[in-house]
Amino acid sequence: MRIDILTLFPGMFRGPLGESIIGRAQKEKRIDIHYHDLRRWGIGTHRQVDDEPYGGGAGMVMRADVIIPAIEEVTKAGRTSINGMRKIKDVFGAKYVPYRIYLSARGERLTQEKVEKIAKQYEWIILLCGHYEGIDQRIVEGGWIDEEISIGEYVLTGGELPAMVLVDAIARHIPGVLGKEESAQEESFSPALDRKKEYPHYTRPDEYAGIKVPDVLLSGHHAEIEKWRKNQLS
Ligand code: SAM
Repeated sequence: MRIDILTLFPGMFRGPLGESIIGRAQKEKRIDIHYHDLRRWGIGTHRQVDDEPYGGGAGMVMRADVIIPAIEEVTKAGRTSINGMRKIKDVFGAKYVPYRIYLSARGERLTQEKVEKIAKQYEWIILLCGHYEGIDQRIVEGGWIDEEISIGEYVLTGGELPAMVLVDAIARHIPGVLGKEESAQEESFSPALDRKKEYPHYTRPDEYAGIKVPDVLLSGHHAEIEKWRKNQLS
């Protein structure tokens, strides 16, 4: 999957997305993340990306005439580089269009089902990270955004952390990203667990701080263990 991230702070991503499973997935070219500093499309010598809100009020709004050219250029550049890669073109052909997501507190709440759908349906996503009061609504109204996604009912300072959450959650569903021991099959909210919360886990030692592992897990009775685990789903 190709992921283009439009942000005012590209430096925020390198640590969180450069390590562990997501870092490995990039090295193995299972996900291909490109960061784009929105200041590049900023206006004037100060590279201004925001302005005061019409109607007054506190805070600044990210300008449509900065964001829209950025989305369009990133889309065009992505197509060009994809077309240059024959193998990818053969696989995705002309249908290779980006799904454009704006991370927004006003968006639809992110769920495991939504994550699975995005991972399955799209080979290329563009993530727009807002700041300040958010973005000029004409970017959404004009059709430059396909979906607004919120990671929860609280407000963060910017869309960078939500974008990282989304990338991490999606990447787990891309074939080969998780090793066998990290399988996404039986996890909280997965279809295999009827979208319920997973059962609790225990490991050695079998007693610690006076707390014992449930007997059934040490019994070796697979059917009983399965039954116990099923009962623990919530
Ligand atoms: N004025 C906006 C509101 O009341 O909904 C909040 C803007 S917030 C300070 C700045 C940016 O952070 C937003 O444009 C969005 O990209 C991001 N953001 C904040 N909370 C978020 C959330 N819960 N989910 C996704 N993105 C969020």
